[in-house]
Amino acid sequence: MRYNAALMSDKSVLLVVGGGIAAYKSLELVRELSRRRISSRCILTRAGQEFVTQLSVATLTGEKCYTEIFDSDDEVTMGHIQLSRSADLIVVCPATADLLSKAAMGLANDLASTAFLASDKPILFVPAMNVRMWENPATQRNVEQLKRDGKFVLHPDKGEMACGEFGYGRLPEVTIICNEIERFFESKAATDLTGKHAIVTAGPTIEPLDPVRFISNRSSGRQGYAIASALSNLGAKVTLISGPVELPVPLGVECHKVETAIQMSEAVHNSLPAEIFVGVAAVADWRPANCADTKVKVKGKSQVDFSITFLENPDILQSVAKLTANRPELVIGFAAETNDVVEHAREKLFRKGCDWIVANDVAGDAMGGLENEVTIVSKEGTKSWPRLNKNEVAARMARQITDHLKSRTDAK
Ligand code: C5P
Repeated sequence: MRYNAALMSDKSVLLVVGGGIAAYKSLELVRELSRRRISSRCILTRAGQEFVTQLSVATLTGEKCYTEIFDSDDEVTMGHIQLSRSADLIVVCPATADLLSKAAMGLANDLASTAFLASDKPILFVPAMNVRMWENPATQRNVEQLKRDGKFVLHPDKGEMACGEFGYGRLPEVTIICNEIERFFESKAATDLTGKHAIVTAGPTIEPLDPVRFISNRSSGRQGYAIASALSNLGAKVTLISGPVELPVPLGVECHKVETAIQMSEAVHNSLPAEIFVGVAAVADWRPANCADTKVKVKGKSQVDFSITFLENPDILQSVAKLTANRPELVIGFAAETNDVVEHAREKLFRKGCDWIVANDVAGDAMGGLENEVTIVSKEGTKSWPRLNKNEVAARMARQITDHLKSRTDAK
């Protein structure tokens, strides 16, 4: 059995027990968690009460077992909002098809579903159900949605079910579930960015021609905003330097809105020092040499050969990567390419002097879309990830950044 008693002893879990035949194993889960020094408090759904009793749960957890949302006694001692935030992790076990569906939809019509919605804590779903219910496209859709929303879902085991059918849907062994919970706490302890400052650029820049016209690109800002949010979730102080986009600023992130590449460059350098720089913005490489004070008039056909002189913009990524003083420990650039993606990224890595280039193929809809397929190119090699939602790319990237900084600290 693995457990890190020192790390686990101050950890607590809010266990939500749904109404499936596997509910009886939740009692064993409580005992195993307590053996590993992880305390638990429990919400028992109405269906869950058909399989285990409030009394047995309360006896094993040593805590009151909560069942109803509109219970005036409970609301006085611990309101449902407070309950939802009272633990380090919410574990839903067994997570029935109904609970997965409610959580994916954002319903809040009982204590368990309200706790999911009201909580600011991570949630781990441990599904257990009949194989047909598990494989049903509706359940799979809900699982995908929950993952996209940043929830954790443990894959059920394969085997014979209580109903006699065979396939995926069995609750994993209690020790496996506990190992997952421990791994979660360990990775959280190891992947903390508290005390680190990250500067992230996002969105396009716009380069004016006159008071009404400008040159820009199709960057939506989604990937950069998601990275800012993911770094902040891991405890970093994040300064987001954003071109004009219509996205909400992630909670806890300080955002400076700019328009041109020159403004973005100034904002980045004014925000230093930082340990992490991630240049996700699609900075315009060129700007019109002159911006007219008044709208440029088009005077009939003689204007067809109207030409614009361009000046090169500062390369923000390169200027940060090549700093001699105050250079962030990790400088990451993005390379949006439509062909020979990795080769171009490698060339950019060396030319700009950054530590990683995140290459993505924007031949499809990556620039404005919700998904991204990236390859991380560094001096050590290349690593490709499958096509993922931009939030998942961001979460993975934030974890990778944390691991990298930690390995550098450990090596010192
Ligand atoms: O050379 P290219 O524009 O493809 O490089 C993309 C990377 O360089 C991105 O990380 C982008 O934010 C950064 N960049 C920059 N300043 C520029 C041009 C690109 O920081 N003027």
